Amino acid sequence: MGVDIWVRRPGGVLAGVWEAPAGLGPEPVPPAPRPVEAPLAAGVASPQQTPTPAQVPPAPIVIEPVSADAVARWDALRTEILTCTQCALHQTRTQGVVGVGPQRTDWMVIGEAPGAEEDRRGEPFVGRAGHLLDAMLHAIGLNRGTSVYIANVLKSRPPGNRDPKPEEVAACLPYLMRQIALLQPRLMLAVGRIAAQNLLSTDMPLGRLRGKVHHFGELNTPLIVTYHPAYLLRTPADKRKAWEDLKFARSVFRQLADRP
Ligand code: URA
Repeated sequence: MGVDIWVRRPGGVLAGVWEAPAGLGPEPVPPAPRPVEAPLAAGVASPQQTPTPAQVPPAPIVIEPVSADAVARWDALRTEILTCTQCALHQTRTQGVVGVGPQRTDWMVIGEAPGAEEDRRGEPFVGRAGHLLDAMLHAIGLNRGTSVYIANVLKSRPPGNRDPKPEEVAACLPYLMRQIALLQPRLMLAVGRIAAQNLLSTDMPLGRLRGKVHHFGELNTPLIVTYHPAYLLRTPADKRKAWEDLKFARSVFRQLADRP
């Protein structure tokens, strides 16, 4: 069906299909304790269960409370993005694509720009690359909609999926900065060269940005770089390296979670 299933291989290697040893499935990533709690408003911590084929019991998903003020800011940001005319892409897009996920969560994934399917449905990463991204995230215990916020550098689709122009990035980046400021993720994962280079203000090739912890913004949020899932669909041999990146990200996150 064109959907990649990443399951763990006995040697712990991912290469398109990742076969789990009997009885083991994706390991959930526990939420890290946040130092400061926002005042309670909408949203109550509600333990849910992640359906996995594993016998290992899944960790509860903690939906973190979001203040009324933050909800209002998210709403305002969403409206601005959906009505944005800051660059020429608004003339060709079907709709702005804001982002998907809880308004308070520890993990943030940032891609490049909506493609055709995302433009049609108004949600990031819902095409083939999105299915692979979901499988990659699931392999480290993360789930779209409950434990990770997914957004793009550009909120409007560039025609023909061409690379974003610098003026489009300049116009759109403030929206992403506001999303990051509202979410305050504990860890950011930049998928692909465009996201990585724009977030890190560098023109270094992606290969040199992988495998290390960068820090983003005033909060010094740890940022890890990996391949874009669309690239991995074209270059499956590099799924092995992407799996190394994901395990690295998970271990960095666990160290954060272990901090007092
Ligand atoms: N590629 C991206 O970078 N983002 C999407 O939302 C879809 C494909």
